[in-house]
Amino acid sequence: MAGLRVGILGATGAVGTELLQLLEERSLPLEELRLLASPRSAGQQLPFAGETLPVVEVSEDAFQGLDLVLASAGGSVSRQWLPIAVAAGAVAVDNSSAYRMDGAVPLVVPEVNPEDLAHHQGIIANPNCTTILMTVALWPLHRVRPIQRIVAATYQSASGAGSRAMAEMKDQAIAILQDRPPPTDIFPYPLAFNLFPHNSPLNEQGYCQEEMKMVQETRKIFHAPDLRVSATCVRVPVLRAHSESLNIEFQTPFPVEEARTLLGQAPGVRFVEDWQRNYFPMPMEASGQDDVLVGRIRQDISHPCGLELWLSGDQIRKGAALNAIQIAEVLLEKNLLG
Ligand code: NAP
Repeated sequence: MAGLRVGILGATGAVGTELLQLLEERSLPLEELRLLASPRSAGQQLPFAGETLPVVEVSEDAFQGLDLVLASAGGSVSRQWLPIAVAAGAVAVDNSSAYRMDGAVPLVVPEVNPEDLAHHQGIIANPNCTTILMTVALWPLHRVRPIQRIVAATYQSASGAGSRAMAEMKDQAIAILQDRPPPTDIFPYPLAFNLFPHNSPLNEQGYCQEEMKMVQETRKIFHAPDLRVSATCVRVPVLRAHSESLNIEFQTPFPVEEARTLLGQAPGVRFVEDWQRNYFPMPMEASGQDDVLVGRIRQDISHPCGLELWLSGDQIRKGAALNAIQIAEVLLEKNLLG
């Protein structure tokens, strides 16, 4: 394939903006880049590679001639438009949750299960951001000795809810510092100087949707339908990059030094540990980085076959846009586009 004709659906959002930046930075050969969004932002001009490109309202015709569509405009928008994009001849990589658990749709983290791309039928799903960060960090261990159980606690930044949520948290911080009531149009409660359990819908067992995504998507990506996973997801007043505390249990003891060596060599992982300085991964240092920062690995003192670890990762980048671009790179390399 000579040059790729690429469309970004949701180009004006948090993930869309990062997709644009990554397309500038990385080496996908672009012949055309089409920026699609809702009528709200149609007509805007966005900077790209020293030029500006117009944002166009998504429509039936908008996908004609495209090889690849990178979608980051939410689940209902993906459901409405991706079948049309695929019918027009494009392959779509979707950042929303719309198709993730569809049996016919590969759910891919390129460091973990790139081989699943071979079976795509036009749509490929990018996993949930917390799941991507967790699977990048745990796969190097799981592939050596299968994990039996994961207990995760997440510390999720405002940007996980999109660009308007980031702006709202800044406004909340200013309002609180000025003794005014903080605005809560996007979030249900103030996030600045506060935290709350993830505000996605709860199921009858008391788990929220975000937590169940970590359970179900990890099983699908690892091809481990019986893997036991339990998560508690929390929004914290961090602007960008999520963190996770992971307790993992194996069948037999997993020596800490072996885990450290494996993670030190793992693709997509950067080891960050300085025990003298109490220096470990932090969201501020993970922001803008491709790698998931992993550290603070230690033996679980409550279980002989358990390990504890801590990570921070940029969920807009590796948790969404970068993962999608890496998928596109594999598709191109393996001749799986078009
Ligand atoms: P966002 O900042 O709110 O951006 C949403 C984008 O979708 C905007 O470009 C918006 O365009 C567009 N859009 C909304 N409704 C549309 C419609 N009816 N037709 C066409 N375009 C429409 O959201 P985001 O954080 O980038 O998230 C986008 C998707 O990625 C979501 O499915 C989200 O769950 C997923 N995701 C997000 C993250 C993250 O960390 N933020 C991580 C992983 C996955 P307008 O400018 O026209 O409104």
